Amino acid sequence: MKPASRVQTQFLSAQDVAALVTQLGLADALGGVADYITADFLRWQDFDKSARVANHSTDGVIELMPISDATTYAFKYVNGHPKNTHIGLSTVMAFGVLADVATGVPVFLSELTLTTALRTAAMSAVAARALARPNSRCMALIGNGAQSEFQALAFHHLLGIEEIRLYDVDRVATTKLMRNLQHTALRLIPCANIAEAVRGSDIVTTVTADKTNATILSPGLIEPGMHINGVGGDCPGKTELHPDVLRGASVFVEYEPQTRVEGDLQHLPADFAVTELWQVLSGKAAGRSSDSEVTLFDSVGFALEDYSALRFMRDSAQALGLGQRLSLIPELANPKDLFSLVRPGIKPLALAA
Ligand code: NAD
Repeated sequence: MKPASRVQTQFLSAQDVAALVTQLGLADALGGVADYITADFLRWQDFDKSARVANHSTDGVIELMPISDATTYAFKYVNGHPKNTHIGLSTVMAFGVLADVATGVPVFLSELTLTTALRTAAMSAVAARALARPNSRCMALIGNGAQSEFQALAFHHLLGIEEIRLYDVDRVATTKLMRNLQHTALRLIPCANIAEAVRGSDIVTTVTADKTNATILSPGLIEPGMHINGVGGDCPGKTELHPDVLRGASVFVEYEPQTRVEGDLQHLPADFAVTELWQVLSGKAAGRSSDSEVTLFDSVGFALEDYSALRFMRDSAQALGLGQRLSLIPELANPKDLFSLVRPGIKPLALAA
């Protein structure tokens, strides 16, 4: 193959990422993304961070998520449209870019729909490894849609969860999950309602989609020592937890300015204390303080996780020889002569010395 030009972009399609994950195996892919996320969260101060930019509409939201360090810029385009599944489209769809900070060249473009499911599950597992009781073996999984199998497998492979208690208002979604994971070592138990799923669980993951302030978990369901992994409440007016569930827990977040607006935290006053997870991972703040404490990861999804996931996909694709090169940016003999692209037949003038 010809060497890549300085402006070509490496491209990974949805099929490429599926092939990459199949070749690596889901356990290694989830573990790899979790390692990249952890490494990047440990150098939190290196990043130019901002809350994502959201454009809201009646049925959904479209968001842009930028972040950069001194060498690499990343952004993700992502939507959230809970009604999409009724018309045969995914609730969440995404793609993203890595660019070279020194020149601005977009060096890597990738699908991020499948990758988002991996990175969200890996992020949840990284948080739970720091916050849940170390001997956690049983998890309730409320919401059995597109993200759910990835959550189940991340907690199985990265935390040692052995039993998952399932509930979804849509029974077909639960049946789909059970069929997809029937060949794993997980014990899968379908439950008749949320209370039955949550009772006795060490960890409770909520990953439902509804554009409303739902009450998936209320204080009466929470038992001492539980870790709550709240994933589906991620937009203004789209939450899953009764505010008293947060009041009764130690609450951990990704990037506080964003979670105050988007997370379940939006229901609490601005002075309600939370801890950013990078502080726990780097030993600057305590995580769980006792076996009876209730810990809560109010996940909304932060740009740094996508930066990490994009890096993991780029590195893995290079190692496996996957993907192709795209000409997103024109190749010019003289960069001041952009017009040469639309004046074929005229030889471009040589660059001034
Ligand atoms: P999905 O539409 O594929 O699945 C959502 C499931 O939730 C559906 O099966 C639906 O029937 C179920 N559900 C809805 N209301 C429920 C209720 N009251 N009780 C039980 N089940 C209920 O969506 P998805 O792609 O799996 O995403 C799930 C949620 O996670 C969405 O809200 C999405 O915005 C969010 N999400 C968050 C992050 C993050 O980083 N925090 C990342 C990706 C997705």
